[in-house]
Amino acid sequence: MKIVVLKFGGTSVGTIDRIKKVANIITSYVKKRFKVIVVSSAMSGTTNDLIKKSKHISNNFNSSEYDVLVSVGEQISCSLIAGRLNHMGYKARSWMSWQIPILTEGKHTSSRISKINKKKILDYLKNGGIPVITGFQGINNLSRITTLGRGGSDASAIMCAKFFNAKKCVIFTDVEGVYTTDPNNFKNAKKIKVISYEEMLEMASLGAKVMQPHSIQDARLSRIEIDVKSSFVNRKGTLITKKKNVFRNRTITGLTSTKNDAKLTLVGVKDKPGVAASVFKPLYQSYINVDMVVQTSSSKNRETDITFTIKADDLLKTTKLIKKNKKIKYRDLIVNKNVSKVSIIGVGMVTTPGVTYRMFKALANKGINILVISTSEIKISVLINKKNIKKALSVLHKEFRLNS
Ligand code: ADP
Ligand code: ASP
Ligand code: MG
Repeated sequence: MKIVVLKFGGTSVGTIDRIKKVANIITSYVKKRFKVIVVSSAMSGTTNDLIKKSKHISNNFNSSEYDVLVSVGEQISCSLIAGRLNHMGYKARSWMSWQIPILTEGKHTSSRISKINKKKILDYLKNGGIPVITGFQGINNLSRITTLGRGGSDASAIMCAKFFNAKKCVIFTDVEGVYTTDPNNFKNAKKIKVISYEEMLEMASLGAKVMQPHSIQDARLSRIEIDVKSSFVNRKGTLITKKKNVFRNRTITGLTSTKNDAKLTLVGVKDKPGVAASVFKPLYQSYINVDMVVQTSSSKNRETDITFTIKADDLLKTTKLIKKNKKIKYRDLIVNKNVSKVSIIGVGMVTTPGVTYRMFKALANKGINILVISTSEIKISVLINKKNIKKALSVLHKEFRLNS
């Protein structure tokens, strides 16, 4: 069987009119003799509305009930797509993840797919049906509904491609592919034709919402090639593939920025072994992800300042944990929510010297102050004041010749 997985994101199924267009895209693949598995996200805005409702009920809403609630949006879009395909004369039906089932592991709200039972879907495909599968959701070993984290339908699609051994996995979205930076944020952004899993994973993790980071990890592990393209216009998109298939003469492939970081500084903590561990242990125990960390030491008084960043959503919880942490002493706690992490990403920096210097110099020339720095083999991130994001993206885009 020549199987293709087609995934549609929220905006692509955002209205009845869009759903009719999506049904036409699906049938165009059926006409090319593909066996089509459809994976759909919820209509745009639906998941956000459901999350809002949970927050109005409680600011500590039970996480297993959260999953039951927020997974509902996918049920609506899948039934509408299947209904439209039926209307057009095709055999199609919706499949909730528990009906297949799609099995997940890990904690509620951010589970990972561990297995998909293939039998029912394969039988359905063999009988000429088009299965329309709910993205974003699964069930755990207690048969409770789970979800895969925001943007998780991407992971559903990639795991379907893996388990059903699909020839292709196409992610249909509201932009024409993966761009050098968010095209809705920066008008000079350019579409990238081919990008490696490694670069895409960094870009996704650092704020390029177009693909969910976990989904790229899954794709890389199983060597699933992904086409990212628009459901609005029929143009060639971006291929996400292994490094070997990517030829590029640029040092930097893309830029990202984040919107929801917060910076905390513990002023005047004791400069002795174990202090940093005592600061971070309760955060780790509460599943709070600490991102960038710097420690400035002063020989005077054997004191130091520890600065770190977290997601702004975790700020309240984090400050509470720090304030009640008896193991640490500090003089002051400074919080800043007006920060953004801007990153440059590219495998080219491994072999090209001077990239860090060029980045810092370009930002300095525009008077942009760097608050925190972190690097990995293929990325450099800096924390800056939020108000400078546009200026920073623009100067870096130019500096690394991404405009052409
Ligand atoms: P979907 O609902 O189809 O899953 P998302 O909203 O999750 O779509 O992702 C698509 C959005 O990702 C685009 O509208 C765009 O604003 C944003 N985006 C951020 N960075 C990039 C990038 N580098 N390339 C393309 N889109 C990006
Ligand atoms: N509907 C879910 C969300 O909004 C999953 C997805 O869009 O991929 O996060
Ligand atoms: Mg998405």
